[in-house]
Amino acid sequence: MSYCVNCGVELDQTASFCPLCHTPVVNPNQPVDTQSPKPFPTEPGEVAPASKQELSILITAMLACVAVCCGVLNIFLQSERVWSLYVIGAAVMLWIWLVPPLLMRGMHLLLRLLLDITAVAIYVYLISLDQNGTPWYLGLGLPIILWGGAVVLLLGLVLRVYRRSLITSVTIVIGSAGVFAVGVEAFVDRWLHGAWSPSWSLVVLAVCVGMVIPLIIIRRVPSLREEVRRRFHL
Ligand SMILES: [Zn+2]
Repeated sequence: MSYCVNCGVELDQTASFCPLCHTPVVNPNQPVDTQSPKPFPTEPGEVAPASKQELSILITAMLACVAVCCGVLNIFLQSERVWSLYVIGAAVMLWIWLVPPLLMRGMHLLLRLLLDITAVAIYVYLISLDQNGTPWYLGLGLPIILWGGAVVLLLGLVLRVYRRSLITSVTIVIGSAGVFAVGVEAFVDRWLHGAWSPSWSLVVLAVCVGMVIPLIIIRRVPSLREEVRRRFHL
């Protein structure tokens, strides 16, 4: 048995250095045993990254847990309204958004969007049924959901082509937000007044255009682009 001459810690037979103070071990009576295995791992352990299956199981378990807990709580609290159905519907919608894209590798953008929009449309429809608001759903809710889906689809297709640059992506997203706002106001006006009289959405559109134009200039002028990249660590 050897002890460190510097800090006095007891040393394993295989130690050539003190594990605490790194003093070399020199004991003429007991040479360092280089054959026996070391008492500690010599290579850093690595944890394998979580697989998509494991992640989808985790998400499913979390959402199911929330849904079941709310259902049970609803039963025990004996409230008149079945409010837990709202939470359960939201959990189902989130599951459709998150899990199929994880499990199906290379899921087509169109299929994914179709699935997501259908989930939102069904969820809002069920809410409208509960609130006795089917005309509202057909006249206003569904058109806005479909309009949102169309804008996101266009956004996805354009971003696929221009995904190289973050500045370009941000420009496209801001521009789409402006266009979406105009569409939403058009549907709201048509539902409320029967005719489209643009007001607030034009303000949103103007703000978006006001942000898009400088971003396009930055994208086009190399010196500005480099300055922005440096300042924002892009
Ligand atoms: Zn030591």
